[in-house]
Amino acid sequence: MGFSGFDSPCCARNYDPLPVMLTRGSGAYLWDVAGRRYIDMMSAYSAVSLGHAHPRILAKLSEQAHRLAVPSRAYYNDRLGPFLEALCMLTGLDAALPMNSGAEAVETAIKAARRWGQRVKGVASPEIIVAEGNFHGRTTTVISFSSEQEYRDGFGPFTPGFRAVPFGDLEATRAAISERTVAVLVEPIQGEAGVIVPPRGWLAGLRRLCDEARILLLLDEIQSGLGRTGAWFAYQHENVLPDGVTLGKALGGGVLPVSAFVARREVMDVFTPGSHGSTFGGNALAAAVGLEALNVIREENLVERSRTLGAHLFDRLHAIKSPVLADVRGLGLWAGAEIQPRFSSARTFCERLLEKGVLSSATHHTVVRLAPPLVISKADLDWALDRFEEVLRELERAGAQPSVVADGVLVEP
Ligand SMILES: *Cc1c(COP(=O)(O)O)cnc(C)c1O
Repeated sequence: MGFSGFDSPCCARNYDPLPVMLTRGSGAYLWDVAGRRYIDMMSAYSAVSLGHAHPRILAKLSEQAHRLAVPSRAYYNDRLGPFLEALCMLTGLDAALPMNSGAEAVETAIKAARRWGQRVKGVASPEIIVAEGNFHGRTTTVISFSSEQEYRDGFGPFTPGFRAVPFGDLEATRAAISERTVAVLVEPIQGEAGVIVPPRGWLAGLRRLCDEARILLLLDEIQSGLGRTGAWFAYQHENVLPDGVTLGKALGGGVLPVSAFVARREVMDVFTPGSHGSTFGGNALAAAVGLEALNVIREENLVERSRTLGAHLFDRLHAIKSPVLADVRGLGLWAGAEIQPRFSSARTFCERLLEKGVLSSATHHTVVRLAPPLVISKADLDWALDRFEEVLRELERAGAQPSVVADGVLVEP
């Protein structure tokens, strides 16, 4: 366990935060309780793609909260329709079901696929193909098809009906399809796995496979969607349309949990009154803020910004020559920097960045993610990358450390 000076004795230990106590945020900046300013190069796993305290989001949040917030879905509210229509228009799909957290949107996609499989395809015991290394959330069903021991250990028994194949492997997917298969559910780019970019043509290949086998292509764009990769949705890079997509994170404008499952009509129509729902899902406040988030992304050209600033980010990262940097991967304003474990764990790397005023976070012990809010200025991005290069140089000078990798887990020197 790491730093504990900020820990509350009342807090569950399911996180191990970096040693900084934040108290304020604006745009790509965060401030700690001592008044020190940091550049946010993480944006809460894309939940804050619009930046902290976006004025239009705050105005909408306040206005709608004063007007109507949570009337429940027992009644119609006048904010939900326009929000869902915008989601359908942007995705190219037909109908949307609003939820709150990302994991709930994924659960919704799984339920839709299972019922579609049983009712439309006539499959008695539906199976969904997923990818190894996936991350789709933390519910018991979702961790049932995780390949991460850390996420699963002690939480069984697990939900059956999933089959994992290597990420980005079309032939393995083809081989795994059986009469029981009803859907393939994948992230277009695996975020938590370390920003893993699949081979070009993989999504288009999956689309063809799913069409041939008449199964659903379900994409989890909770992290990759809404501009992060330099397109509204990562599937647009390959000109495919999925049968269903899950969205979340940035959809809440950085202030609320707002998620949705968006799908073709035939898929969504498996839901009938009473078959699925959520007390808070689709509430007027969430819908108003969600719609405003979409409007801000469009009107501030954040997708274009992600593409151009992202190209600059990768130009700089690819130009770095350092034995400490093993690999850089990603797309748009979304990079995973693989740190050579001989020199440092990703966690230690992030602590050094923090000391220099840059907030990042580690995934999988060796990957530092660089995913700033899409509103970040080029100057701030460059400043953060200068600090990143400084840490690389310092670690290179310090030389290899006597750390050991046991069971794939880096043990700190
Ligand atoms: C974060 C994430 C989720 C889970 O979202 P929560 O809001 O934390 O439940 C699901 N899928 C992907 C791809 C994610 O990145």
